[in-house]
Amino acid sequence: MPATNVRRAGVVGSGTMGAGIAMNFANAGINVRLVDASPEALERAGAHIAATYDAQVARGRLGPDEAEQRLARIARSERLEDLADVDVAIEAVFEDLALKRDIFARLGALCAHDALLATNTSTLDIDAIASAAPEPERSIGMHFFSPAHVMKLLEVVRGRATARATIEAAVALGERIGKIPVVVGNCDGFVGNRMLLGYKREADFAVLAGATPARVDAALEGFGFAMGPFAVSDLAGIDVGWRAKHERIKRGAAPPFAVSDLPDAMVAANRLGQKTGQGYYRYEPGDRARRPDPAVDAIVAAERARAGFAPRHLGDEEIVQRCVYALVMEGARILDDGIATSRGDIDTIWLHGYGFPRTRGGPMAYAEEIGVASVLATVRTFAVEDPAFWRVPAALERAAESGRFEPAATE
Ligand code: NAD
Repeated sequence: MPATNVRRAGVVGSGTMGAGIAMNFANAGINVRLVDASPEALERAGAHIAATYDAQVARGRLGPDEAEQRLARIARSERLEDLADVDVAIEAVFEDLALKRDIFARLGALCAHDALLATNTSTLDIDAIASAAPEPERSIGMHFFSPAHVMKLLEVVRGRATARATIEAAVALGERIGKIPVVVGNCDGFVGNRMLLGYKREADFAVLAGATPARVDAALEGFGFAMGPFAVSDLAGIDVGWRAKHERIKRGAAPPFAVSDLPDAMVAANRLGQKTGQGYYRYEPGDRARRPDPAVDAIVAAERARAGFAPRHLGDEEIVQRCVYALVMEGARILDDGIATSRGDIDTIWLHGYGFPRTRGGPMAYAEEIGVASVLATVRTFAVEDPAFWRVPAALERAAESGRFEPAATE
């Protein structure tokens, strides 16, 4: 069973996530070896890690000696075989099932029997990856969030075969490297990204129904989000969510409700967000300030016409209710499915991984605060127009009566 006293760690894939994950180990005093098949990627990761520590030293956050020591704890290699002696290996290679299965099979054969094998996949089936290793009971998902050396949240994803000791080891390791680990079940999107889908779907709906992206962002920022969903899309790249949508469709895992085609229209117009200088807003070079762009109004108008919407006025209250209640509903469904074991876990994920306003306590706590019965009453009015999306989960009905979200009863 997995060792609890991790002394040596390995990370496979030295891209955006792998480099960040490696820094977590180094910062916690654990030696880590970063493996990548591409020497250029290893080179880039080394430069990125050094620049990150340099910036922390320049800002006075880190002493130069400590930065030096942290840097020295990160070794790089092109050979997976160099991970034979690690106590934990985390793979963060491309999001490709066959590739991840191959890495897991090789790590399983290579590493000691008590080494923990983790995948950082954000969309793939943990069981399909774990089953490639000879001992799937020591395999688990450790879903870090970007930037991985900054974000506190860690979804620890248990697979069908994952042993209890493996879950405990992953949680203990997460805490040791300064994360907030939350144990979740294996499903498309796990907890955080699964809920995000409905939230963004309703943000798009509000735009198609008559609001502008800026109006929707302002309403949700007024509620307390640091950034509205369209500003976040521009920052992350509109193509990222768009690609995830099409990957999902390709593998037959499309959500049970229609999602909007607004991002498709943006991608078709090469409006990918800040990286192309234009997304839901326009940006001047070197400046992240959002500027309105009439070209977006034209794209939205065309999309409204195509989807058959007659634009109407939406107030801030309706915009916030649609987006936040979509989170509450999916959270309730996640409790029904046993993917999260408590509503507190769902709130923790949304507070620490998705910028849900701290003062509101998380989507589920917020619903309890304002009264789940009133949330349900509003959801029923939305359901008149759109019954498939606003189908009421059992946990929401129960909570409307009791006032509190409870996990589904287990037999
Ligand atoms: P990336 O493209 O930046 O990096 C992937 C790295 O894997 C590349 O450097 C590539 O050279 C390397 N690689 C590919 N095949 C390899 C092999 N056979 N052996 C060793 N290295 C190999 O990708 P990323 O954004 O860091 O994502 C990595 C994983 O993390 C994916 O599974 C992704 O879904 C997941 N993830 C990403 C994010 C994010 O925001 N980027 C967040 C959470 C999880």
